[in-house]
Amino acid sequence: MTAVTLVQLLSQAIWVVLGVAALARWLSRRTWTDRDIALFFGAIAVVTIEGRLAQVTPVPAQVGVGVLVVIMALPYVSIRLAHDFAGVPTWIRRGNDIGFLLAAVVVVVAGTTRVTGTLYLVVYFVGATAYSALRFTTAGAHAYGVTRRRMRLIASGSYLLALAILLAGLGLAEPTLVDATNVLTQACALVSAVSYALGLVPPSPLKRYWQLTELSAFLSRASVLPRATMREIVDEVAALAARALGARATIGVWSESEGVLRFHDPHGALPEQMGASDFLAWRAFSTQTSMYIPDVARENPSNAAKYRASNVGPVLIAPIVAGERRLGVIEVYAARQPIFAEDDLAFVELVAQQAAVVLESRQLIDEAARVRAQEEAAVLKEDFVSAAAHDLKTPLTTIFAQAQLLERRAEREGRTSELTGLRRLLRETSQLARLVEELLDASRLERGALPMQPEECDLASLAREVAESERSGADRIELEADGPVRGVFDRDRVRQLIDNLVENGLKYSPRDSRVRLRVWQSDGQARIAVTDRGIGIPSEDVPHVFDRFRRGSNVDHRRSPGIGLGLYICRGIVEQHGGRIWVETAPGRGATFQVALPLGRAGERPAVDASSAAS
Ligand code: ADP
Repeated sequence: MTAVTLVQLLSQAIWVVLGVAALARWLSRRTWTDRDIALFFGAIAVVTIEGRLAQVTPVPAQVGVGVLVVIMALPYVSIRLAHDFAGVPTWIRRGNDIGFLLAAVVVVVAGTTRVTGTLYLVVYFVGATAYSALRFTTAGAHAYGVTRRRMRLIASGSYLLALAILLAGLGLAEPTLVDATNVLTQACALVSAVSYALGLVPPSPLKRYWQLTELSAFLSRASVLPRATMREIVDEVAALAARALGARATIGVWSESEGVLRFHDPHGALPEQMGASDFLAWRAFSTQTSMYIPDVARENPSNAAKYRASNVGPVLIAPIVAGERRLGVIEVYAARQPIFAEDDLAFVELVAQQAAVVLESRQLIDEAARVRAQEEAAVLKEDFVSAAAHDLKTPLTTIFAQAQLLERRAEREGRTSELTGLRRLLRETSQLARLVEELLDASRLERGALPMQPEECDLASLAREVAESERSGADRIELEADGPVRGVFDRDRVRQLIDNLVENGLKYSPRDSRVRLRVWQSDGQARIAVTDRGIGIPSEDVPHVFDRFRRGSNVDHRRSPGIGLGLYICRGIVEQHGGRIWVETAPGRGATFQVALPLGRAGERPAVDASSAAS
């Protein structure tokens, strides 16, 4: 057997196998494209088998005519395939129908006996094949990645087939060249068969190889991607899907706060913002299912016009999720149905997983940056407040001392007209000094702890001191203390604690109502309770009143000024003593603030020793 016969046999075997495989594929899937592919390869297989038969046994003339019709069907089907994959104007398709009918009539009526008829057949064959080859070439130039490779393979298949026919014709016209043209014809036919097969129905392993080449190029950049902007990440992942599937791709990023998917689709097939709607992308996102839809307009007729306007035919959609967190959705869409198949969905899911990794990393980086910025701002604020409070303290002390001096002098000299103003000055200054002191304490607490000097003392006498020193409401305070409550406490801080609670009781209750201050000992603990019959605290505010700068929503800011630091400091003092503070209250029915402090023993320090803490 010569090399030429071997090549010939091989290419014939390939054509027959392709014909049978395409037929089987069409029978199992029944799409328009599969039917055209089956017609194409089936026609070549028929011609091949007939040629082989003719070499061994004489074939009746009618069979020869039939085979010629089948040969003329090849350019006809190739234009149909060009339409399936890339779109062909209607007038050309109608022209193709008529052209093929005419060719069939010429073959049946005159065969190749008339020159004009034969000329027509050659012109139709070469013209139609060349047109489809050109159509695939231009479509390939406009397509992406995998589709571009497929289009180019189909185009080369067409060119090579046309070349094979031309060479065969040359061999017939010039018998001296027949040996050379025979070899070339067989080689062209073989390569054409392979190109067609790989382009029209690429085997899954080849398609995967193409796709994985794109994926690995993407993965080599994936580690730096989270540092890019959100828009760049989305574009890069969409470009990966687009190249790997040879189609257009877009990603919708879920915005939790707005409840919408935000798309950046340069092709404009999807809205920039998508809330609950009947779009398929929304359906896939809300049900968290991937889907392959061969024809969106048929699947979702209500949006058919939009899909047609944006040239969207088949669609692949997969949700992007990281664990339980829904991050978005990826949608890949093409204009023509055979661009991708159901088995491409697995690849889109793979891209969605990669997108999830990158998007989540990006969001975590954003989150970390936000927290860092907040922390830095908080530290700055803290530094500013504490510096300002420090600087205010000294002049305030001087003003207070000077005002006291003036008050005493005015009293001595009987200048009563000045006394009212001076007393007001003293009152306001001491309030300001207290505010500054609160700011300083709050800032100390923020940085760690309050400085403390624990010593043995009696809570009952501390409470009495507070009740008696209360300038403007001593007569409203009812002190209940059965006996001494001795323990190890920081005297000044506990006095500050009781003072704060009592003052709040007076401030947030009617002027004619009483505030009860109880001090007792129970279960090895010192207990303090301050009860008033005032405005109380709304239940939704209760969990927050011990936080910094928090005030109840029922407070009248004009009548009861304050900045919401007192209870925060109280909690700090109590906790540094290893105790607990809580409130029992109902709006309009008053409040009881309760404190429980471990008594400690002589020589034992409170739980948090902050005597060395920064002041
Ligand atoms: P300030 O009194 O300066 O607002 P506090 O930290 O002492 O700050 O109190 C925080 C908030 O708790 C108050 O604004 C008020 O809403 C609520 N509160 C505290 N004590 C009482 C009380 N005895 N009765 C009603 N509300 C109170």
